[in-house]
Amino acid sequence: MTQGLLMVNTGNGKGKTTAALGMAMRAAGHGLRVCIIQFIKGSWHYGELDGIQAFNGLIDIHVMGKGFTWKSEDLTEDTRLAQEAWKFAAKTIDSGNYHTVILDEFTYLFHYNMLNMDDCLDRLKKRPPEQHVVITGRYAPQELIDSADLVTEMREIKHPLKTGIKAQKGIEF
Ligand code: ATP
Ligand code: MG
Repeated sequence: MTQGLLMVNTGNGKGKTTAALGMAMRAAGHGLRVCIIQFIKGSWHYGELDGIQAFNGLIDIHVMGKGFTWKSEDLTEDTRLAQEAWKFAAKTIDSGNYHTVILDEFTYLFHYNMLNMDDCLDRLKKRPPEQHVVITGRYAPQELIDSADLVTEMREIKHPLKTGIKAQKGIEF
C-alpha cells in the first residue's frame, strides 16, 4: 500500500524546484498523474510551463503567483490571493486525482505570514493517506520540517550569479 509522503526541498542552494520537477517526470514515466502548483513571484516564463506538454497530459501545472509579489504595497490583497491559492491547492490535494501534488515556492506563504501554519499543517495531515505532497522554497519553517517525512536542504557552495553570470535559459528558468 502506498504511504503518502510530505516532502520538503528547502535551503538557499539551487535545485529545489528542479528536483521536484524531476520527481514529476519520474512519476509520469509510470503513467502517474502529477499536479504542480507554483506560488511564484515575478513574471519570468519558466521552461517547465511548456516542457510539461511533452508528458501527454499526465502533468498539470498552475501558476498562482500572478499578482503577489511578496513585496507589494497591498499586503491585504496579496494575503487574500495567497489564501485563495492555498484553498485551490488544498482542494487539489484532497481530490485524489493526482499521485503527487507539488507546491512550488509554497514556503514563502509562511515566511511572509500569509497563511496560518497550524491550519495548513492540520489540513495536510488530514489529506488522503496515499497522497504524496512536495513543498519547495527557502526558509521552510521548523513546524513544517517537523511534520514532513522527507526534508532535503540544498546548500549553496557556489552559484554563477555570484560571479556575475546572468540567469540562463534551461538552467535557471
Ligand atoms: P531551481 O528552480 O533552479 O531548482 P531553486 O528552486 O532551488 O532553483 P529558488 O530559490 O526557487 O531556487 O530560486 C529561483 C531562481 O533563483 C532560479 O532561477 C534559480 O536557479 C535561482 N537560484 C537558486 N539558488 C540560487 C542561489 N544560491 N544564488 C542565486 N540564484 C539562485
Ligand atoms: Mg524554486
